[in-house]
Amino acid sequence: MTASFEPSPRPQAAAPAVAAHHLIKHFGDLEVLKGVSLEVEEGTVTSIIGSSGSGKSTLLRCMNLLERPDRGELAIADEAIRFTRNPQGDIVGLDRRQLQRLRAKVTMVFQQFNLWPHLSVLGNVIEAPMRVKGLSRRRATAIGEHYLERVGMADRRDAYPAFLSGGQQQRVAIARALAMEPRLLLFDEPTSALDPERVNEVLGVIRDLADEGRTMLLVTHEMHFAREVSDQLVYLDQGRIAASGSSQDVFDDPRCRRFVAPAA
Ligand code: ADP
Ligand code: MG
Repeated sequence: MTASFEPSPRPQAAAPAVAAHHLIKHFGDLEVLKGVSLEVEEGTVTSIIGSSGSGKSTLLRCMNLLERPDRGELAIADEAIRFTRNPQGDIVGLDRRQLQRLRAKVTMVFQQFNLWPHLSVLGNVIEAPMRVKGLSRRRATAIGEHYLERVGMADRRDAYPAFLSGGQQQRVAIARALAMEPRLLLFDEPTSALDPERVNEVLGVIRDLADEGRTMLLVTHEMHFAREVSDQLVYLDQGRIAASGSSQDVFDDPRCRRFVAPAA
């Protein structure tokens, strides 16, 4: 008998699911994020657009602490972190346990799927719930099966990633991110590595997640899609937010218009 799984109800808090305040990030001398502030309300979708190299991936990676900002603050659910450095240059105020706890609340879907090739589809999806959250295999499997069903990949649970199309791999990666039951789901150009005929199957899954009220932050070059699903659109230009607001406002902003539809 398999254990049944009901997803936990989403909290109906008025506070933002995630708030970044004045994030600064350098790589050596290069200042990639120059004081970025961003809030994502519970149950809404925010899309980030901007040229290559503008810092979009770095911003997402800071939001789930794959990168550590040099300065600034990040509040995830009810937990806030302020980033500063001590004289040795180490980031102060974030221990390992806190890092792991915060990472479990914000999960990411990558452009290149990043599935573990040596694990089956189900193995990929249950790994983090078992290892990071300490769930039993049985419980993680019930959750994993639920989300594989959700993305239409339940019938391939025993397949290995190499035998799946890019679109299928990305749907598994989405199930893997959902299986952690995060407060915020991040997508970094989730369709950019796909064959054109596979793009829509992945956008369809993301659209369904938006419709059911998932809190998401999405970097994409699919402008029509961004316009359609986003409650908030952010235009990032050289490490700064140059425009943000409703899709309509941002697409109408002259700075952003030059990016979205350069004058012929
Ligand atoms: P985007 O996703 O908008 O294309 P990125 O956040 O990937 O932009 O990169 C922003 C800038 O930071 C680029 O100039 C890139 O070369 C640089 N960069 C990103 N990651 C690193 C890194 N790990 N080390 C050094 N430079 C990096
Ligand atoms: Mg990028």
